[in-house]
Amino acid sequence: MTSRLPFVDLQAQRRRIGPRLDEALARVLAHGQFILGPEVRELESKLAAFSGAKHCISCANGTDALLLPLMAWGVGPGDAVLVPSFTFVASAEVVVLAGATPVFVDVDRTSFNVTAESLELGVRAAREAGLAPKVAMPVDLFGQPADFARLEAVCRKHNLKILSDAAQSYGGAQGNRRVGSLAPVTSTSFFPSKPLGAYGDGGAIFTDDTDIDALLRSIRMHGQGIDKYHNVRIGLNSRLDTMQAAVLLEKLAILEDEIAARNRIARRYSDALADVCEVPEIAAGNISAWAQYTILIEERERVAKALDAAGIPTAIYYPIPVHRQDGYRHFPAAKGGLPVSEELAGLVLSLPMHPYLEPADQDRVIAAVRQAAAD
Ligand SMILES: *Cc1c(COP(=O)(O)O)cnc(C)c1O
Repeated sequence: MTSRLPFVDLQAQRRRIGPRLDEALARVLAHGQFILGPEVRELESKLAAFSGAKHCISCANGTDALLLPLMAWGVGPGDAVLVPSFTFVASAEVVVLAGATPVFVDVDRTSFNVTAESLELGVRAAREAGLAPKVAMPVDLFGQPADFARLEAVCRKHNLKILSDAAQSYGGAQGNRRVGSLAPVTSTSFFPSKPLGAYGDGGAIFTDDTDIDALLRSIRMHGQGIDKYHNVRIGLNSRLDTMQAAVLLEKLAILEDEIAARNRIARRYSDALADVCEVPEIAAGNISAWAQYTILIEERERVAKALDAAGIPTAIYYPIPVHRQDGYRHFPAAKGGLPVSEELAGLVLSLPMHPYLEPADQDRVIAAVRQAAAD
């Protein structure tokens, strides 16, 4: 019996840059500036440059990275934020935390991302519920950037701000722009298993807007004014700690190479599996960060069990769309319902994906999926 494959192999990355990471952490231990130390500023400036955004504001996690812009914009009671239902729950959670109402919209079956049509239907549902539609929050699901050109047209028409949930797509691109500069405000997560992951929690916000930048920096520090004990608004404690910034600086240096590796693996999977299941499609001009490689397959539970027996872990992102979750089912949804989100929840299966997945292990995954699909 061959060994069990990891779903995401953080140790393989550690073998590559372990000494550099250890030195980086030792430097932080030596200077002792654990909160907003020099590595935090350095990381923010390198992330902004990598993304092509004017400003990068780091924060405690990807969830706060979505909440902080809503707070900066003053989104609250009576306001609607349009959110896909087929996403991780945090996208909708922050809307409720801000005091506003999530209005759920549907996604495209091949890109898994919000459609312009559903956004229109969501705006109508929000108005009919007596809410003021204020923000659209497209999610770059599984690493592929949303269709910003088409979404922007709808947002302009209805005067919606765009908050991009790029928790899964950092390192991806659209046309000649990288994630972080595709929307007016972009949020990402450095949760360890994301394409750019820390050794703990972390997040960041990207924008070209200097006023929003200043507001976000104040809000992440308890609403500080000229200093820490001058508090001019309600804020949070949401800082990225210096240790995580030091880790992320080393990981950012190899991100481009890792994204290229993920893309090679995804292409190899797709070439070998397209005749036995529906493989993910990346729109022309998009580069996915491949946070997940997700197929659509009939009899998913049986296939997942067969893969598990062959030592291959899989995951289901996401088994229940957010609008069907107990905490969220009372919120409005786009007119006509969310049939694609509901269908996808029953068909999706994510396969092992990380930049250090060797060809022999890719072949094991491919052979096992083909075998299970044929049985
Ligand atoms: C991971 C994730 C988040 C939240 O990020 P955390 O760092 O875990 O708080 C938000 N949205 C999506 C789509 C995610 O995948």
